[in-house]
Amino acid sequence: MGEKPYFVKLAQAIEICNRTTLQPIVERVPLDECHNRILATDLPSLVNDPPFDNSAMDGFAMRHIDTRNPPTNLKIIGTIQAAGQEENIEVKKGQAVRIMTGAPMPKGADSILQVELTSTTNDTVTLSQEGMKHFIRKTGENLRKGETALKAGTYLTPAKLGLCATMGYPSLPVVKKLKVAIISTGDELKQPGVELQRGEIYESNSFGLSGLVKWLGHQPTRLQCVGDTIDDLRNILNSASTEYDLILTSGGVSMGEWDLVRKIMEEEGDIHFWRIKLRPGSPPLFGLWKDTPIFGLPGNPVSSHVVFRMLVAPWIRNTTSADGPIENRARAVLATDVKSTKDCLTLRRVSIELGNEGYIAHQKIHQGSGNLASVAFSEGLVILQPGQKYSIGDVVEVLLI
Ligand code: AMP
Ligand code: MG
Repeated sequence: MGEKPYFVKLAQAIEICNRTTLQPIVERVPLDECHNRILATDLPSLVNDPPFDNSAMDGFAMRHIDTRNPPTNLKIIGTIQAAGQEENIEVKKGQAVRIMTGAPMPKGADSILQVELTSTTNDTVTLSQEGMKHFIRKTGENLRKGETALKAGTYLTPAKLGLCATMGYPSLPVVKKLKVAIISTGDELKQPGVELQRGEIYESNSFGLSGLVKWLGHQPTRLQCVGDTIDDLRNILNSASTEYDLILTSGGVSMGEWDLVRKIMEEEGDIHFWRIKLRPGSPPLFGLWKDTPIFGLPGNPVSSHVVFRMLVAPWIRNTTSADGPIENRARAVLATDVKSTKDCLTLRRVSIELGNEGYIAHQKIHQGSGNLASVAFSEGLVILQPGQKYSIGDVVEVLLI
């Protein structure tokens, strides 16, 4: 390895990765297809929201001054259900108009009373209370035309997509999805569906990693799994580097003779660092294979998942300037003791329940890095500094997964 950074802290590893960036490409995509995508430019509203003063209630519109001594009887002079119907109506002294939620306010009226607080006989309405001015939604009170509601880098959640439609956008400029190649390595790996021979296991990492790439809004491709031979590995890395923006491998990055991803990267690639002070997940490397960024992730299923969350996801977010998806953190009271390792940032998998006073964290499942169930049945990772330990009742920070 010579002078290459070795066994670095997580923060340093992230910093080293972030020195390598991709040039994001912008494409215009129909709004329908923008869920989980990253907005590429600031977005000013094309309209006022709401575009006109309208009623927040089904009820009656009238002059507030006429309603100050309830009960009040007013004469119903018309109905407004939709835009246009208000044009020929003006509410004058002693009059009211029947109005639906979202319909434009008629001239003259400055208050609304919801239908539940009224009764009608023929063309007279009786109001049991004063009219309410705050039941009028004012033009532009949510958003002014031209106002930037969403910034470049916004991760487009369902509510934010709805907001884009409200602002008048049928399509959006978004960051083109990164094409991510996922390559699992190991002679022992078989695809689910075939029968296992002695010594073989089902390949699972590529499925988990693929889901994580989609969660970030990008496009994973699970390439064929390669056995532990340098030539096969070289071939697949060469072809992946011409077609994909990013390569993720799993397996073969530890210290052993058969850890060929590390070996080939040392001999023929460009390693930027190898190993991090993180448990689980200490073996990874990052570097370039023929100018394409490559993360060599550990083979242990828990480790590959955790290293993606702690290292790959921050890098992808950084290189695409994305503000999400948000990694939610919370504080939880421990229901079990948790302990760190001596010299690594340690992540313990815990289940999280909502108690009366807030979250409660349980470390229930055995924490071996081969036990993927420990991630699948956990809602959080407790983050412990090297050497740190906590006891039942302590409040700890958890990363929600
Ligand atoms: P390695 O880092 O290649 O030594 O792998 C460490 C452990 O993870 C071994 O027990 C492997 O069998 C297992 N492993 C490696 N790759 C995968 C994979 N893609 N899916 C499931 N388990 C794997
Ligand atoms: Mg292996």
